[in-house]
Amino acid sequence: MYLRNWQQKVIDDFSSIVRQHKRFILKAPTGAGKTVLASEIIERFYKGKKVIVLCHRLVLLEQLEIALGEKHSLRTLEISDEGTPFDGYDILLSTNLRARDVIVDAIFKADLLIIDEAHRVSRKGKSYKKIIDSFDEHSKKEARLLGLTASPERRTGDQNDQLNLTFDAIIDCADIRTLIAEGILVQPIYRPHFIHDLNLTNIDISSGDFPVSKLAPAIVKSSMIEHAVAAYNEERLNVSPKPISAWFCADVNVAELTLEQIRSFKINADIVTAQTPMKERMRLLKLHEQGFLEAMVSVGVLSEGWDNPHCNIIVHLRPTLSKVLWGQSVGRGLRSAPGKEKCIVIDVSSNWSTFGPVEKLRWSLWSHRRSYLKFLNRFNWIAQQHDGENSDDAYLLCENQLPGNLRCSHIYKKKAYNNDTCPKCGVYAAVNIFKQQKLDDTLNEIGLHKLFFSRVKKVYNEMDLSIWSNLGGTAWKMANDKEKIFLAFCMVFSEVSGELTGSESDYWDVALAAEARVRGYLVEKNIQLVKQDDFQLALIADGMKAGTQIRTLQSHYGLFICGDVFGSHTMPENERKYQKAIRIVERLAVMGCSSQDNLPYFNAAEYIADRAKYVS
Ligand SMILES: [Zn+2]
Repeated sequence: MYLRNWQQKVIDDFSSIVRQHKRFILKAPTGAGKTVLASEIIERFYKGKKVIVLCHRLVLLEQLEIALGEKHSLRTLEISDEGTPFDGYDILLSTNLRARDVIVDAIFKADLLIIDEAHRVSRKGKSYKKIIDSFDEHSKKEARLLGLTASPERRTGDQNDQLNLTFDAIIDCADIRTLIAEGILVQPIYRPHFIHDLNLTNIDISSGDFPVSKLAPAIVKSSMIEHAVAAYNEERLNVSPKPISAWFCADVNVAELTLEQIRSFKINADIVTAQTPMKERMRLLKLHEQGFLEAMVSVGVLSEGWDNPHCNIIVHLRPTLSKVLWGQSVGRGLRSAPGKEKCIVIDVSSNWSTFGPVEKLRWSLWSHRRSYLKFLNRFNWIAQQHDGENSDDAYLLCENQLPGNLRCSHIYKKKAYNNDTCPKCGVYAAVNIFKQQKLDDTLNEIGLHKLFFSRVKKVYNEMDLSIWSNLGGTAWKMANDKEKIFLAFCMVFSEVSGELTGSESDYWDVALAAEARVRGYLVEKNIQLVKQDDFQLALIADGMKAGTQIRTLQSHYGLFICGDVFGSHTMPENERKYQKAIRIVERLAVMGCSSQDNLPYFNAAEYIADRAKYVS
């Protein structure tokens, strides 16, 4: 079988991967070819052995049935299946919810367990817990658990439910930008419009995302659908060979209104939702794939487990607090196909300006409250690109009034077009988003970054080092809860390695090792970090300035610890240390730290016992 570069590399490294890791995730973007990789791994390394494949996606199940069926004996589990697993066959395929008892039995005999869409795996959730537990307890010594996903991120703020704790390693196999360069994926071209009349303030987000019951009416009241269809009418002329689009909507009501508007332009369109009967759904998706149906409007069914490589326009009408959902939806349009040069992403949901382009998304700790704050700002990503008011990275928002009472609302880069005229309506009527928003420097990441790198050097150089080097004990002892978080940040900065890490997995190994050392220090000194509801960058900024929440003693001592390591590292090293420190202190803040800590990478009781042995 012909393998792509990244697939070949995984195959070459596979023996060494399984030697090092019992449970690991292979991460590659949607459309990269994970199915081919899975069947190649089975073919080369597990011929005649027992393999379980759990898929969330029926598509993958079907593809594997075809790919493996010729050379292996396999069985696809039915919901009501019972009986002895691997009775007369080697490969067991199943969606994870079918016949779970058979799967649990099969784990005793299996040599390999593959889980597709592995970001769903949770030790706490109902669907996977039993399977993972039974793999831990009953699997053969040489058995391996292999997860596949494009986005190794759990949508939960619960730090003990993060994937890097369930799996030993997350192996970065390919990223979107490399695959674009290799021609496996196409470049997304974003067309963002800011929907000024969409009001999502005061929506209860305790469920983790905007509740559809509140989101949908707000969308219907706004000009979102109108904007989406207007932009689509222009962009459909800009793609080759012909426009094939997927529309992501928040609910059936929004989807039906959208469909109506698309059809009013005589565009061939239809709709699929969770309520669409399976047969009808398959029929419509087939028509779409064959190009007979130009626009497929959808609610919740296309973001996973659907693939039409000819799709070259994505229209996003679903504001979300989930970066993963945003990434998944856009990913649907990136697979390359003959004649397809790019994928246009029309975003009227503010996801682009909030999270940024999908090819630049980075893993981070997920907190729905923080996502909500970012979303309310709606220019979060843009603000982070900004380095000073007159920077070339400024973005403009077109406020031109179009006929029919619609504002243009297109967002575009300053200095990218002649006289800064809007590329969509041809008029200059824009405001500078950064100036308009008057973003509070201390509340966004770029502001804090600047503050940190200017303050540490300055304050440290003016300090009487002999005094401050002795004030650590007092600073910690007198610190209140917020000050402790600030001091912890400074300590992590000084502790964490500034070396370049090769992969996401290495990054987290280094980060968690530093976190463990800081926990060790705190536990040994009897210092407790009280769990915070949320981590605020502003708190760190306050300490940098000896502001109102962090007092002078703690502020200066913190700056002293940072300054002390600053000089002995290069700027790129300090930069990497800083980036990790921000993420680690967030973990410390939301998880807290005490002598009760029992984490996969740090157990307080064992740590204390070890230290006692070492001392005596
Ligand atoms: Zn415009």
